[in-house]
Amino acid sequence: MRYDDGKDCFIYIQHEHGVIENGSLELITKAKELLSDTEENVVAVLLGTLDQNTHDTLADYGADAIIVCEHPDVSAYDCLNHAAVLTEIIETHHPKSFLFPGTVRGRELAPRISARVHTGLTADATRIELDNDEGQTHSLAITRPAFGGNLFATIITPDHVPQMATIRPGVFEMKKVNTPYAKRIDHTTDVELKSPIEIEAIIPKENDNASIADAKLIVSAGRGVKDCLDMVQHVAKTLNAELGASRALVDDGVVAKLSQVGQTGSTVRPLLYMACGISGALQHTAGMDKSETIIAINNDPAAPIFDVADLGIIGDAKEILTHLMRRLDVSNTP
Ligand SMILES: Cc1cc2nc3c(=O)[nH]c(=O)nc-3n(C[C@H](O)[C@H](O)[C@H](O)COP(=O)(O)OP(=O)(O)OC[C@H]3O[C@@H](n4cnc5c(N)ncnc54)[C@H](O)[C@@H]3O)c2cc1C
Repeated sequence: MRYDDGKDCFIYIQHEHGVIENGSLELITKAKELLSDTEENVVAVLLGTLDQNTHDTLADYGADAIIVCEHPDVSAYDCLNHAAVLTEIIETHHPKSFLFPGTVRGRELAPRISARVHTGLTADATRIELDNDEGQTHSLAITRPAFGGNLFATIITPDHVPQMATIRPGVFEMKKVNTPYAKRIDHTTDVELKSPIEIEAIIPKENDNASIADAKLIVSAGRGVKDCLDMVQHVAKTLNAELGASRALVDDGVVAKLSQVGQTGSTVRPLLYMACGISGALQHTAGMDKSETIIAINNDPAAPIFDVADLGIIGDAKEILTHLMRRLDVSNTP
């Protein structure tokens, strides 16, 4: 199928207990911005129950329409049933592009669907632009790190629709635009949903730092604080912040990979990012330089982290953290 056989940008809405994953809302915001001067629509695709609150939230972030399938067999997430119904939705509505948040779920679903509809998939993308080459109106140029992050590859899918991608959560801003009205389109499935998976119970997982991409406060450790990591962890805990880390500490096996911030880790945009003993290599700052406020502690005045910091503290991290812990503990005393 050529591009002109498809229309609109579809966004998969990942949700749980009425809460929409930020990654989906970020994609709506980005698609809305890209398509603002075109006739194309941003269409949210939601499997499960669409209550008024969810509907309003999707409209607030810019969805022009919402396709919803409320079949009982898709109300809870089941990869095979969801893939079957999403494939049917593509075959019914012929979107030009279909974007998924690069969450575990998005990464599980998108490749199955792209294989079923015989189209390309760009995985773990970090940038999307319109590629307005002649004859490719409103098609997407989707960029992702390649060769372990040493290169960026921009990928187009010139001969097939929809163009599909999973996009790393946190790389785009979430912004309310208040679309006045998002049209609801009910999808009744004809697919025989016969997933062999039986869901007995859904158990919310313990906080395992998987939510670093959504964290509002992050205290992050680099190689410069390897020997006083417990102090960084203490500060993070006291501030109720997530623990982040540079790749140096992850590669050393001191901090879990889930905590890694940067080009080959998570992209974060917290209100506060405190970088302790982190040099500020490009591969690290690529994942945190959009944070609202950045505080850097480093004993090297020439460390590049100070180029992106709003507040730089030059000195020995152990000494500075000792002062900070004293102040925090004092202020925590009732
Ligand atoms: C393909 C590729 C992908 C990568 N992806 C990532 C990524 O996703 N995330 C990432 O973080 N890195 C990534 N890297 C690695 C990156 O290039 C850097 O090597 C890494 O970020 C360095 O970590 P660091 O700043 O903790 O360590 P270092 O570079 O060793 O810096 C330690 C800093 O601590 C300071 N310091 C030392 N002692 C003290 C002290 N007592 N008090 C205060 N400050 C002190 C030093 O002045 C120095 O600035 C990637 C590299 C490549 C090639």
